[in-house]
Amino acid sequence: MTSPRYKRVLLKVSGEALMGSGQYGLDSGTVSAIAEDIAAVARLGIQVGLVIGGGNIFRGVSGAAAGMDRAQADGMGMLATVINALAMQNALEKAGVPTRVQSAIPMASLCEPFIRRRAVRHMEKGRAVIFAAGTGNPFFTTDTAAALRAAEMGCDALLKGTQVDGVYTSDPRKNPDAERYDALTYLDMLSRDLAVMDAAAISLARENKLPIIVFNIHEPGAFTAVMKGEGKFTTVH
Ligand code: UDP
Repeated sequence: MTSPRYKRVLLKVSGEALMGSGQYGLDSGTVSAIAEDIAAVARLGIQVGLVIGGGNIFRGVSGAAAGMDRAQADGMGMLATVINALAMQNALEKAGVPTRVQSAIPMASLCEPFIRRRAVRHMEKGRAVIFAAGTGNPFFTTDTAAALRAAEMGCDALLKGTQVDGVYTSDPRKNPDAERYDALTYLDMLSRDLAVMDAAAISLARENKLPIIVFNIHEPGAFTAVMKGEGKFTTVH
């Protein structure tokens, strides 16, 4: 077996990735399948942090579009990420990975508050840490929260698990001629507006020299393969 190239990584999973074939909410089989892949990476001895989005339940921009105050709607979006975090904690523990949820919005009876040094300690002890409630601030996304936590935790890479196996010239599900990039620079991502991560997240990664690796979260074993430098993915650095 190839020895792990990474010591500590942060995986961002969008809320929509947890819906399975549904249109809303959580599909337990999909959550379990992703948890199994994360467990396989943890068994390689790689420390794993997670940020999970909330788009399968509520997005602040949708609330604002329907006439809500944006900051209020974003509060609801952040709470949605906590629901997903608790679902993933359950699935990870069933898969044998001790897990802690730390929320940017304290809710003491459900999970720990975000305390950076405590999170580092958990990861050093082999516990997966799920960072919930995004950054804790409205007007941000969980992509930005993922880049922020990855930088704070000293992660070696930010993994973005998407519906396709990397960054393409255009949406490969709509355009059969779309080609996958093996590697891109942060500036390529920003200037070509490739819609894989928001600009704030890419800028934060760039400032902190944090490589972003985009891969297909629904391909069984893909997370492990990427950690070994195998399989299909796009690296942004
Ligand atoms: N959100 C927020 N601040 C953050 C992160 C998220 O206000 O730091 C809110 C925002 O309303 C967002 C929702 O939480 O729409 C869910 O996050 P996101 O849209 O990033 O989830 P994903 O698209 O990854 O499922």
